[in-house]
Amino acid sequence: MRMLLVEDEKKLCDLIARALKAERYALDIASDGQTGWELAEAYDYDLIILDLMLPVLSGTEVLRRIRRKSQHVPILILTARDATEEKVQHFEAGADDYLTKPFAFAELLMRVKALLRRGPVSRSSVLRVGDLEVDRLSQHVKRAGRKIELTPKEYALLEYLATNPGRVFSRTMIIEHVWDQSFEGLTNIVDVYVRHLRSKVDDPFPTKLIRTVRGVGYGMVERTEA
Ligand code: CA
Repeated sequence: MRMLLVEDEKKLCDLIARALKAERYALDIASDGQTGWELAEAYDYDLIILDLMLPVLSGTEVLRRIRRKSQHVPILILTARDATEEKVQHFEAGADDYLTKPFAFAELLMRVKALLRRGPVSRSSVLRVGDLEVDRLSQHVKRAGRKIELTPKEYALLEYLATNPGRVFSRTMIIEHVWDQSFEGLTNIVDVYVRHLRSKVDDPFPTKLIRTVRGVGYGMVERTEA
């Protein structure tokens, strides 16, 4: 696996490089947008980690250029900003995932692994599990064509589970991804939210999509009978 990291903060770069190399990933590093774009153009990477605030050429422009060249390489955006509108713009421009600084390296590695496991994907913003549709841009959820109203946390939980149907997520993984790092509550918050989610997404329908794996965690069914 060969990755490209485009990041101008030297210290952060070194830390990310160390974390990724410890996982035996090959890594190229660019410290400005122009160099990042030139490398992305020259090589076929398995994954690109891209900062937004970059000298010479902005991360947004690098993202745009990469997507014009390749629809397939997964791109993980790093940014200090956390504006939802901007996030939406970058998803529309072809980003696959988004990590707001400061982040835990465990989370970076988890997202990197998830993107690599998923591999090249179509650019559709809609996740589908059975007759459930989760639109990651508009954050609208429908089941059997019927709109389902969710709170932001319920949505985040559902989106996370729906990204990898068939996979089981532990309560700790769910908390790390859906709640922020400052969350210090009990992991049974996950059980509470799964219950809320089920009451809206599963209870009104004959086929259940959210599954509990006792002693492990939660996931969504991989496929449903048509
Ligand atoms: Ca930067």
